[in-house]
Amino acid sequence: MGASRPVYLDNHSTTRVDPRVVDAMNPYWAEEYGNAASRQHEYGWRAEAAIVRAREQVASLVGASAEEVVFTSGATESINLALKGIAETSAGQGRHVITAATEHRAVLDTARRLEQYGFRVTVVPVDGSGLVDPDQVESAMIPGTILVSVMLANNEIGTIGPIEELAARCRRKKVLLHSDAVQAAGKIPVNVQTLGVDLLSLSAHKMHGPKGVGALVVRKSGAPVRLAAQLDGGGHERGMRSGTLNVPAIVGFGAAAEIALREGAEDASRMSRLRGILVDGILDRIDEVIVNGHPVQRLPNNANLTFPGASADAVMMEMRDIAVSSGSACSSAVPEPSHVLKAIGRSVEDARSSIRFGLGRFTTEEEIVYAVGRVAEAVSRVRARTRALV
Ligand SMILES: *Cc1c(COP(=O)(O)O)cnc(C)c1O
Repeated sequence: MGASRPVYLDNHSTTRVDPRVVDAMNPYWAEEYGNAASRQHEYGWRAEAAIVRAREQVASLVGASAEEVVFTSGATESINLALKGIAETSAGQGRHVITAATEHRAVLDTARRLEQYGFRVTVVPVDGSGLVDPDQVESAMIPGTILVSVMLANNEIGTIGPIEELAARCRRKKVLLHSDAVQAAGKIPVNVQTLGVDLLSLSAHKMHGPKGVGALVVRKSGAPVRLAAQLDGGGHERGMRSGTLNVPAIVGFGAAAEIALREGAEDASRMSRLRGILVDGILDRIDEVIVNGHPVQRLPNNANLTFPGASADAVMMEMRDIAVSSGSACSSAVPEPSHVLKAIGRSVEDARSSIRFGLGRFTTEEEIVYAVGRVAEAVSRVRARTRALV
């Protein structure tokens, strides 16, 4: 493994496109290049047929019907469409939105934007394992609350949220519920009906599909959810998202969804076993390690570990052949420690000493065993150096 490429354990950031997905996409670049909205010729019909199929594949993965799937450029857009779209249509009923402290930036920053538009946002805290308390969400509801947005699975610590309980409370109070299911899809069963959500966001590239494509699932049964489009134009996606459909990417998303539905349980049990080897191996070799997130209500492919006394950046420099991620939001000029780790009670120091491991479909036991050794060496070396300095 030494001379080859780093071991990829950053599957919460993005995943390798499954070769079967690449095969499914291939004809749609230079052969089947029609515009799915072209109604007057064969090229358009064939592209449209491919979209119909992909829409069914994505819907099946989450127990939705095809008409409930709105294709977007990714989960960031899905989340923006859900929050802003609901805010726009429901502003007459109220201007209050509830979300949670550990949400992805796409949710938190969109909620901040809604504040600029005159909405009030309540951000509920989480407990030490990253769980929101449905009672606390319910107590935050006021007559003007229009939407709750809480993620299904967290992208940093893997905690799975109590979405079904939240949905029951939202229904009782006639508040809509959106859930960011990006990290959950393909890793745990996701069913919009069982969950009871009104809106659900998905992203292809987190489930071995291509980047730049996602979906917003918008409930149509019962009282259909009404949503204001945030992109106006040709009226694609039943008017909810104009713009020529990215046919190759959507075909790839569909193929990825079909594979995830068929093989997800098997992938999950393999990843869960490998995660066990990773975490146990590291705990065996290094002392004073904190395992972040919920012990059981968690994704099978996530491990987030705090190594007090060893800065994550320094550890990662010591093991460049292991591709992992520190919790910091690297998009800002000054890396801020992770808001998720802070929300579960880690100190700024400990948050900066935390590493996220994300396993994927293609992670092997050999890679995990190798990574355990490299992490142990790197943490020991950084700790020894840090102690020598003080
Ligand atoms: C990656 C991610 C997003 C954003 O998805 P994109 O398709 O990259 O825009 C949103 N939420 C979570 C939890 C994510 O992990």
